[in-house]
Amino acid sequence: MTLPRTLELLADLIAFETVSADSNLEMISYLTERLEALGARCIVTRDKTGTKANVFATIGPDQPGGILLSGHTDVVPVADQDWTTDPFKLAESDGKLYGRGTCDMKGFIAAAVAFGETLDVGKLTQPLHFAFTYDEEVGCLGAQTLVDDLSERGIVPDIAIIGEPTEMRVIEGHKGCFECTTRFTGLEGHSSAPDDGVNAAEYAARYISKLLELRHILKSRAPADSRFEPPWTTVNIGQISGGVAHNVIASKAEVLWEMRPVQASDADLVKKTLADYVEHSLLPEMQAVHSDSNITQEAIAEVEGLEPMEENAARDLVAELTGANGTGVVAFATEAGLFQKLGVHAIVCGPGSIAQAHKADEFLEIEQLDMCCRMLTRLGHRLTR
Ligand SMILES: [Zn+2]
Repeated sequence: MTLPRTLELLADLIAFETVSADSNLEMISYLTERLEALGARCIVTRDKTGTKANVFATIGPDQPGGILLSGHTDVVPVADQDWTTDPFKLAESDGKLYGRGTCDMKGFIAAAVAFGETLDVGKLTQPLHFAFTYDEEVGCLGAQTLVDDLSERGIVPDIAIIGEPTEMRVIEGHKGCFECTTRFTGLEGHSSAPDDGVNAAEYAARYISKLLELRHILKSRAPADSRFEPPWTTVNIGQISGGVAHNVIASKAEVLWEMRPVQASDADLVKKTLADYVEHSLLPEMQAVHSDSNITQEAIAEVEGLEPMEENAARDLVAELTGANGTGVVAFATEAGLFQKLGVHAIVCGPGSIAQAHKADEFLEIEQLDMCCRMLTRLGHRLTR
């Protein structure tokens, strides 16, 4: 029975104010301490500032493969939200646990650690890994660092369970998300002599036209069995800015856009098409008039999609553990796609509902947390002899 211990741990975790903008080091050292107490071999990786860290921990035999339980330690801000209770103090009422991060996703982390504490580590027949990451909410930055490190070390678990709130449903797919800012620098001039300047706004317009052309191509590439809504990769132009007046050639322009790929090959196609278009068409034309003209494409955030696969051992295992008779796909992005890219069979399954995430009075139903604990207990039976 791991629920009471899970609640204790959760109360501690909620008290760490790990909003993505702030450091998560205290929470990581708290988790590392608890995992080391189980005899875990821990690897801590940090971001460039040294104020954020991931911990990757392994218990059980020192051999390839194994099962990974993964969650992010950061939470979204509470500023400008109207909370009834202190968001960083766990409060229970009517079978619900209130606090920032209860469902997204410290509840799962607490359950995972409590589960680890119940195991007779010497009896594990395969490695059990834990990954607790930073900066998921701002683009899965910590998981990217972690996955790069694992790849370098040649550590590839067989199965990853990412405990984002799915109400314990088995989620085997989500779209990716790629956000990009493209900046155009041309040459200012009088509007009456357009050939003497380089109009950044006009080149931005042509860039956008190419993106809209791609949008049609992407629609036709939707996988026949796609369960996403809509089933294809989408493109959105989010913001256009540039220029100063009607009668001045615009020297600067900026386009903020994003895409939500249903398959990695779509994202590759869009990036390659745009890069070719910039390099072979737009930029040479601009620089023929003014050699300092430039176009830069800055990726602001990229979250890999989780592609539903015919063969997915994680899906099969967790469906069995939860008794689910179906699986689904969701609209929100998670770290699962990054693990899939590493070669891990990954799914998303965790307690609580995404409907309560990111909101004031975020809560997690105790019943949901209990379901998660019971799923992990069944996993424990599978992992020990
Ligand atoms: Zn989350």
